[in-house]
This record gives sequence, C-alpha cells and structure tokens, in this order.
Amino acid sequence: MTGTRETLRLLDVTVAAGDGWIGEIPAGGRLRIVDLHGNQAVDTLIYDARDTANRYSAVDTVRAQGAVYLTTGSVLRSVRHDPLATIVDDTCGRHDTLGGACAKESNVVRYGEHTRHQHACRATFLRYAVTYGLDKRDLTHNINFFMNVPVTPDGGLTFADGVSAPGKHVELRAERDILVLISNCPQLNNPCNGYDPTPVRLLGWAR
Ligand SMILES: [Zn+2]
Repeated sequence: MTGTRETLRLLDVTVAAGDGWIGEIPAGGRLRIVDLHGNQAVDTLIYDARDTANRYSAVDTVRAQGAVYLTTGSVLRSVRHDPLATIVDDTCGRHDTLGGACAKESNVVRYGEHTRHQHACRATFLRYAVTYGLDKRDLTHNINFFMNVPVTPDGGLTFADGVSAPGKHVELRAERDILVLISNCPQLNNPCNGYDPTPVRLLGWAR
C-alpha cells in the first residue's frame, strides 16, 4: 500500500504554525493531515472545485450523520447535500465542526482587547482564498481537525484540552474534485492547541 502510494504521491508539504494552504484534490484522491506535534487545530474549508458556491455545510453534515463530531465514516456534505469528501482514516477520533474559525473579533470577545493585534484563522483563510478568486463571502462553515470542542448537556460549547497527539492523522477521500483551504490555527489563547501552534504535514495521493 505504501509503495503504491509513493508512486502516486502528488502532495507532501509542511504547513508552518499559523500559516495556510490551498489546493485541489481530484475525485478519488486522498488528503492526509498529520498533526506533527499534537493538539494542533487545523481549520479547514472545502468547496466543490468546479462550483465553489457548492461548499461545505456543517449543518447538513451534522444532520445527515446524526452526530456533532466528525470521525471515520463521516461524509462531509455541501450546502446542496452533495458528498464532498469522506473521512476514511482517523487516528485521533474527534474533530469539531461547530466551534468555527478564530477571527480578530472573536479573539477580542473571548480573550480580551490585548489580543486584537494577534493573527487569526480568518486572515489566513482570506490570504489564500483570494488566489482562487474566493472572497469573504466564501468563508463560512469550517472543520477544526484535531480540535476538541465538547458540547455541554445544555447545548453550550467548551474548548477543552486536545485529544490528539504527535503523529496522529486524519485522511479524507475526495468524492468529487474538491478545493481545500486550510488555516493552521495561530491561536495562542486556547487549550485546544496547547497554547502553542505547531506545524502540520499534508500528504496527498491521486487515488
Ligand atoms: Zn484559528
């Protein structure tokens, strides 16, 4: 299996702490995200590469699978209910799609005025989105891979210590040609990534 994959490898990049990445994965191809140092939050947006208005929908994904967390077997659905990708391998076991991506504004609300200058995922998303002609209006629901955001009994969200560890990974299979936009979260104020953003590795195969 590994040998076959070596010959088909199309992607092997390391995304630095706080940086981002954008790229296409062809239908049938796979994208593996490796949490190199553990407890890193990898904020991810997914689009139909042929029609970016057909983008990932957390609401439709959660409703269709009848569960709020994502893991192996989760089908990531679009606003038109099309399967965009399926999680086919997951050594972490829990990924959030409710908490959203951090922004300068949410940092100030959550952590205080002194964090206003800090870099946030929304800025990284925008920086890479524009290279594919996407804009602010295209930055909607996202997935936070490796992020642990437990839902409380009364329906609240809590940011908890991560459950990931160095070397854990999650792997997606593209169900159609997809565009993946990643912000490797720069968040310093949240235990989800141990107050210490770290790099992740992206591995991709054509099929
Ligand atoms: Zn973030």
